[in-house]
Amino acid sequence: MKILLLGKDGQLGWELQRSLAPLGELHAFGRDGADFADPESLRALVRRLAPDAIVNAAAYTAVDKAETDEALARSVNALAPSVLAEEAAAIGAWLVHYSTDYVFDGSKAGAWVESDPTAPLSVYGRTKCEGEQRIRASGARHLILRTSWVFAPRGGNFAKTMLRLAREREQLTVVADQFGAPTGAELLADATALALYRLALPGGADLSGTYHLAASGDTSWHGYACHVLAQARAHGAVLKAGPEQVLPVPAASFPVAAARPANSRLDSSKFCASFGMQLPDWRYHVNRLVAELAAQGNL
Ligand code: NDP
Repeated sequence: MKILLLGKDGQLGWELQRSLAPLGELHAFGRDGADFADPESLRALVRRLAPDAIVNAAAYTAVDKAETDEALARSVNALAPSVLAEEAAAIGAWLVHYSTDYVFDGSKAGAWVESDPTAPLSVYGRTKCEGEQRIRASGARHLILRTSWVFAPRGGNFAKTMLRLAREREQLTVVADQFGAPTGAELLADATALALYRLALPGGADLSGTYHLAASGDTSWHGYACHVLAQARAHGAVLKAGPEQVLPVPAASFPVAAARPANSRLDSSKFCASFGMQLPDWRYHVNRLVAELAAQGNL
């Protein structure tokens, strides 16, 4: 299988470089070789390589900045994926694309399923939602994998921010009324590779569609922060603030540019049933993250 990976240097892209390599011939590009600010420029790359699958991990993920940078966010999150989908359709390639819990407004009581109506609250969410719609309309065989609260040892994320703040401050305040599942880029990348393998087997074409793919269980940002700090302490980290110094606060007390959904819980049972996988509890990969940072001397 020849695979074109885009966004190779992000949290997920880095892990995909590892997980996709055993599947065949992997061609991985970052911003330098494939600039999503210029969507039309991506056509020549796809035509030159003629891959069997395009895996798109590139995205404009600066959620608050997107509120005042809509044109670029739309180019990266909607227009460039649309071009990739058109080119994939033209050559019969699969397109694997990632989307987000932010396509929902967070108002549902239970976990979101794929057929629930989208109603993004932010520019980021709207551009990701438009990207999904354009891919579905392209006629390309696709997997749109919606996930939530992504973290990895490489790159910036909430867990690493909490660890830094806990070294600097004696008390932290963290939002306790937004809920979701922290999902490791490692898990997403492994699940993507296994799904791609399955797509190449008989009946694979029937699996084209949109799926939720997040770790099992859920927590609040506050619960997530407390767990990370407790794990860090267990690994010997010297912190000014431990879990008991993390104060729960409502999201309303944290003014940010982009509104976030209160309920980001994603029901991943369709993905698990379709691809024969189990998704571990969110703590499993969070614990691996902290252990890895400890081993690197970065706690
Ligand atoms: P990152 O922000 O870590 O990585 C995004 C990548 O996209 C970076 O490598 C970045 O390049 C690249 N990129 C940004 N702009 C451009 C551009 N103009 N041209 C080419 N490449 C560009 O994101 P994640 O790995 O965390 O996210 C992976 C996917 O998961 C995305 O689709 C995201 O929307 C989705 N997702 C992420 C969540 C999260 O919490 N992070 C939550 C839910 C979904 P560079 O390194 O040069 O900046």
